[in-house]
Amino acid sequence: MTGTPRAPARDAPRAGPVTVTGLAQRRAWRAREFPPIEQVTPGVWSVPVTIPDNPLRYTLCYLLLADSGAVVVDPGWETDRGWADLRRGFEAAGLAADRVTGIIVTHVHPDHHGLSQRLSEASGAWIAMHSAELEYLPSRIGELIGGADGFRSWLVRSGVPDDAGMFGAGEDFRIFSMAEPDVLLDDGDALDLPGRRIRVVWTPGHTPGHICLHDADYDLLLTGDHLLPRISPNVGLTPVSRDSPLTSYLESLRAMHRYGSAEALPAHEYRFRGIAERSDALIEHHGDRAREVLDIVAAMDQPTIWEVAQNLTWSRPWDEITGYMRRAALAEAEAHIEYLEREGRLIMRRDSEQGPYRLLLVAPVDPRGAAR
Ligand SMILES: [Zn+2]
Ligand SMILES: [Zn+2]
Repeated sequence: MTGTPRAPARDAPRAGPVTVTGLAQRRAWRAREFPPIEQVTPGVWSVPVTIPDNPLRYTLCYLLLADSGAVVVDPGWETDRGWADLRRGFEAAGLAADRVTGIIVTHVHPDHHGLSQRLSEASGAWIAMHSAELEYLPSRIGELIGGADGFRSWLVRSGVPDDAGMFGAGEDFRIFSMAEPDVLLDDGDALDLPGRRIRVVWTPGHTPGHICLHDADYDLLLTGDHLLPRISPNVGLTPVSRDSPLTSYLESLRAMHRYGSAEALPAHEYRFRGIAERSDALIEHHGDRAREVLDIVAAMDQPTIWEVAQNLTWSRPWDEITGYMRRAALAEAEAHIEYLEREGRLIMRRDSEQGPYRLLLVAPVDPRGAAR
């Protein structure tokens, strides 16, 4: 999922001059309706698949058809309803399930990768993802961080109090089980779909192995959660982050300029043009966010990561951000803090392993607001 609790307050094109091409999709998004199944170009179909109990409401799955077979990108969240949505898309595209040769996920969030298992069993298709996404599979992360104990130590070092609403009602630390891949992809790889010229573009940030797919024949970029027209994707520091996720994300955004002419086919919201402009707007958004973190640290006496998260601007009141959203918000605050520490702007200090980190500024903030 994008998981971002912080969406810009108003609709496109406020967050950069994007041109909406999925007009029916945007109408549906605004009316809170389910968007239509659409043929985007010959051999490319957009199929909305339900996400249960989530403000995003659906994932836009894409069907890539060729005479040699078909590849399904991001089959969606695992529910019977989602499966029915997907089957309706197949029907509209005249695609029999046994013609699906491959499944590719832009990343392993459950709103993208959830149905891969069921689709693979129904079709015999291989499942592919980027090699850096493999250890980000929830079952593997769970093991890497040491299960619930590892998760709790993350809460402790971030300064999260016990009753902090990190879990929704009936929710607890749990690990989704999703399909392991059959094929690992790398940047620049051509898709195994004879008759189509589609390549993998590695865009780490939202997750370590997030990919986009570029269709050279129709100049389309399937952007997954990397680029959405209005929502700013969540970029969070996770317990298994090796590289700085925010640094990676900013680099992946800068690299988008080479696809400036392409139409963006995102996994949520609606299709658009203006990939370079949207990327620049997101880079600027994260610059503003970094400055906001510095201002909060300057105004408080050695705050914890948790205290910074609480004081950041979110698109809804903090009390309404609960469960998964709250964990994503904390991870996003931490990604910015880690980025600023790397940039030499912040220090994270901790008295003991049982206590939280406290944050200090390296340089005093210029009173004229020149914390940049
Ligand atoms: Zn996601
Ligand atoms: Zn998503």
